[in-house]
Amino acid sequence: MKFTFPHMGNMYVPIKVLLDTIGIEYVMPPLKSNNSYESAIKHSPEFACLPFKSILSDFIYGIENGADFILFGGGRGQCRLGYYGDLQAEILNRLNYRAEFVCLDLSNLTVVEVLRRIGPLVEGKSIFKIISGIYYAVRTVYRVDRLNALARYTRCREVQKGQTDRIMSEFHKQVQKTNGYRCITNIIHDTVKLLRKVLKDRNYKPLRISLVGEMYVCAHPNINLDIERKLGNMGIEVHNNLTISNWITEYFIKKLIPVGLKDKSLEAGKEYMKTDDIGGHGLHTIGNCILSAKKKFDGVIHLYPFTCMPEIVAQCAFSEIEMKYNIPIMTLIIDEMTGEASYVTRLEAFVDLLAMKTRQKMSFI
Ligand code: SF4
Repeated sequence: MKFTFPHMGNMYVPIKVLLDTIGIEYVMPPLKSNNSYESAIKHSPEFACLPFKSILSDFIYGIENGADFILFGGGRGQCRLGYYGDLQAEILNRLNYRAEFVCLDLSNLTVVEVLRRIGPLVEGKSIFKIISGIYYAVRTVYRVDRLNALARYTRCREVQKGQTDRIMSEFHKQVQKTNGYRCITNIIHDTVKLLRKVLKDRNYKPLRISLVGEMYVCAHPNINLDIERKLGNMGIEVHNNLTISNWITEYFIKKLIPVGLKDKSLEAGKEYMKTDDIGGHGLHTIGNCILSAKKKFDGVIHLYPFTCMPEIVAQCAFSEIEMKYNIPIMTLIIDEMTGEASYVTRLEAFVDLLAMKTRQKMSFI
């Protein structure tokens, strides 16, 4: 069987490590949008959120290029993600794309259940390789997220503009051409060394912006129009904790520790919503805005796909948070019609506003 998977930021790197280690054949959709994107948009419900369309487009690309096994994580949460897997399977079926579509319930995931559902894919594979694959993949998740954080730190401080972008673009090119844990780990280490060598302006004090919002949009440069790179090249230090490594820490690792460590952003979000869940990352968005203000960020950018219910609910709390915590929050809603020029104009205007606010603050000291 040949596996295919959707992109979400850098997640393809650990997925490659996992599949290469176990020895599963796969088709990896291109990092940039492909021809199947138009088809996915055409065949998706008009008001489905952008992640639905982007994921569907990767599935179509995978099947058209020989894949016949799809694994998707849905669930019974409050948002529409819960039924997206079934809907995508139905659309693919109607379009005569034939593949085994396995939809895992992320809200109720057990190892036994995962192994049962992915049985055909790992049939005949050694259990040692499966365990090693999972272990290597998790290590790679953390390494890649640390690399990305280093790139964000370096980009806004680099003396020669464009160096970080060139290094990171070369990193992605090399990873796509390479297979296996060792080779990919070496590429990550080499890239870290290159980023450390980039000449930085040590006296430069950048404005700090925190990204909050829907996880897929915040983590996927192709969908968020490369916001981290754009802001970084404007001299802004961007922080984005909506990463796969944080997700693993919060949803798996902390649950394994018996002391009951709390999810800080979730707890902070409860100040404005007296509930445990409003779907997706809605409650985390509110909490992340509050935590960003407490950590003295200069501003917050809230990103979400058009029609995303949990983020629309979260947005209701922003005017109070802005006043109480004195932090500017700008919301950017993204869909397939979002124009790059207007997007950049809004980013530049927000950055100007933050710079002006900082100058005013300094003049009072
Ligand atoms: S959280 Fe929002 S964008 Fe994500 S799947 Fe749910 S509705 Fe769509």
